[in-house]
Amino acid sequence: MKETLHPPGTRADAYDRPSARFDGQGHIDVRASAAGSCRRALWYAATGHEPAPPGDEALTVMETGRALEPVVLRAMQRAGWEVAPADAALPTSVTVRLTPEVTVTGHPDATGTPPLFGEEAVIEVKTRGPSAFKRWQTLGAERSHPDTVAQAALYTYGLFGEARDAVIAVLDTGDRAWDSETVPAERVEDALERTRAWLAPLGAHYAAHGPDPEALPERDFEAGHWRCSSCPFLAACQPQAGEETGAEEDEAPHVSDGEAAEAVTAYVAARETLREPEQAKRQALDTLKAWMRHKGSAKAELKGHTISLVRSTRYAVDHKRLNALLDADTRREIVAEQTSESVRIT
Ligand code: SF4
Repeated sequence: MKETLHPPGTRADAYDRPSARFDGQGHIDVRASAAGSCRRALWYAATGHEPAPPGDEALTVMETGRALEPVVLRAMQRAGWEVAPADAALPTSVTVRLTPEVTVTGHPDATGTPPLFGEEAVIEVKTRGPSAFKRWQTLGAERSHPDTVAQAALYTYGLFGEARDAVIAVLDTGDRAWDSETVPAERVEDALERTRAWLAPLGAHYAAHGPDPEALPERDFEAGHWRCSSCPFLAACQPQAGEETGAEEDEAPHVSDGEAAEAVTAYVAARETLREPEQAKRQALDTLKAWMRHKGSAKAELKGHTISLVRSTRYAVDHKRLNALLDADTRREIVAEQTSESVRIT
């Protein structure tokens, strides 16, 4: 199973190669991190279509992920893991042949063994925002990020030639907390088989058509799918969709846009209905306040109602002075954080 197709190359080759390419030896070679991608997008990449360059924001996200990898690995070491990180200047390249026509090549982040005991395993490092991190912890990597598990499985077979437990280590970029999940060997094998089944039709397409840029495989995703929204070949694949901006992501909302619009209309109508009576109430109370003051009385009977002039005192906390006077731990005992959510319509 294990074979090295490309000798260790440059760092640029390791990190910036296209998501798929023909290797000149009858294979379409897919980048491991792209193994679960749309097969038409892989075809575009292999046949030399120019991908749209990533935007500034996407580049920052990618660079953040790369920069924080060693941080995660060092945190694991402090927690007792034995970690062997990849050589950043010359990472180890591994290639796995999945079908007669399809190979997958990638560069494992690290290998390591858990604290106390365990077999050497691939460690795949990821960084996630707080909600994706929580989602991963709640659902597990196979449900939340199956492509990551596939990547770890490919590296496991590429490095060890067999299924082994694989480790996914994730850093929450919000809280800077990290956690790890060990995917057992039998599920690593399942992940490899799923990847093989996914990429086999692409190999068959290559066998049938050769490297023909015009012979496109079927689209794997419908227009509007989040994969298409972030696809670098969107303009070539779906020219109309490519002109649209702000395509929705994620799951369908529980509330439709129409229902949300109706809610806004209902809110504004209710607010307008209340506005006049509220103004009338305020005016009446101001008049009565002036009357009571003039009378010099705190309580009066009028038209069957008791009118009271209520005086109350409020105390305001000057947080700036409080913070200057008290250390953080003492402040924490006094000013407790409470979080709530509400909707405001302006
Ligand atoms: S736009 Fe969508 S269907 Fe087309 S290549 Fe990209 S991911 Fe695939």
